[in-house]
Amino acid sequence: MDGFDSESLYEQDRLHVWHPLTQHQDYSHNHPLIITHGLESTVYDINGQSYLDAAAGLWCVNVGYGRQQLIDAALRQMQQLAYYPLTQSHPAAIELATRLASYIPSTPHIYFSNSGSEANETAFKMVRQYWQQQGFPHKTKIISRFRGYHGSTLGALSATGQPERKRNYGPMAPDFMQVSAPYCYRCPFHMQYPSCQIQCAEDFERRIQIEGADTVAAIIVEPIIAGGGVLIPPPGYFSRLAHIAKDYNVKLIVDEVVTGFGRTGSLFGHELYNIKPDIVTMAKGLASGYMPIGATAVSDEIFHTFLGATDSGRHLRQVNTFGGHPVACAAAIANLNIIEEDQLVKQAQSKGEYLKQLLVDQLQNVPWVGDIRVQGLLAGIEIVTEPETKTPASDAFMRLLGRHLIKQGILAGKATDVETWHNNILIIAPPLVIHGDELEQIV
Ligand code: PLP
Repeated sequence: MDGFDSESLYEQDRLHVWHPLTQHQDYSHNHPLIITHGLESTVYDINGQSYLDAAAGLWCVNVGYGRQQLIDAALRQMQQLAYYPLTQSHPAAIELATRLASYIPSTPHIYFSNSGSEANETAFKMVRQYWQQQGFPHKTKIISRFRGYHGSTLGALSATGQPERKRNYGPMAPDFMQVSAPYCYRCPFHMQYPSCQIQCAEDFERRIQIEGADTVAAIIVEPIIAGGGVLIPPPGYFSRLAHIAKDYNVKLIVDEVVTGFGRTGSLFGHELYNIKPDIVTMAKGLASGYMPIGATAVSDEIFHTFLGATDSGRHLRQVNTFGGHPVACAAAIANLNIIEEDQLVKQAQSKGEYLKQLLVDQLQNVPWVGDIRVQGLLAGIEIVTEPETKTPASDAFMRLLGRHLIKQGILAGKATDVETWHNNILIIAPPLVIHGDELEQIV
């Protein structure tokens, strides 16, 4: 592309940019793409090469690249009020919070931060303070699931059920623990649905009983474990989970960081299961990645325990300098307008069905495709060496596949198999504006 000296940019990148999840010693034969611009579902690199972004960046550019309406809204807000903290207030945060509350009326109190990790950290602090204020100081434990991902900061990482992400970073925060994931393809109990009677859900009850309900503050779950391999729970899983949480007086936090804002074919993933969480966390698709923003949406019941006399100390004693940033809020409002105007939730549902049909028709009989899991525009394809043994494909094979896809002009994501530490699950989570012929090209 004009205006870029690719050689010197690669050199400066190699010298100065420390990339996530990247072995820098491989740089010379494994350097990153340097992406310069994007439009709809396509991004372009420094050499002018185009790529279909089947991963929507990091599964977040739901409305696609280059949406002028969103850009204009952010620019207008920056001109009007570039920054103000939410220790006071501003119209963009008020409008966005009101909008989010209208989407999930059972969690109408919105705390803004900048990322999914922070949204989850905030939720953990809120439930612990809630229980303290209710007179249960020992209810501090947070139960999550193996393979679940909740973020990179130490609390969110402690809730994450992917041991390879925690290696070398211990000790983790105390009082975080994991139970089995709903992973029917590799059932942790070596059983089959429905005769299993959803043991993976029962695992929560067992763990709560072992720990003692008087020590457990909350359960945190993704509606579909996303980064851990697109694990779609079996029917009945979530209603059982919600019952267990209620029976043992444990708060239910639903992490909608990936699954929110249309990704699964409903506005929020938990709507698929007809449950009412106590707290919902969100980020990624909230502003489609145009600005960083996270949010923690909280029930009346929890919020009201934070009320008291000015000096009672019952208020949430947390501040995030950039939480509820006016430009991020304005971008999020414009993003939500686009999602509504373009009916992207409905589109994700119908395109997801098409994607599923394409994947099943064309890949089902490929010997190294072990399992295909699709919900809306979130798909995981489990790559194995042979279907009988389900042995995960090696990292070397997955790297080869990734390089092949890039050569074909496709950027896809990868998820991790916890037991083997292999990255053997290919993820497709494109912008929700993707066209049918582009889905065909990806498949
Ligand atoms: N929760 C889930 C389900 C995620 O997938 C992620 C990130 O991928 C996070 C939380 C953390 O979000 P962030 O990277 O914005 O901190």
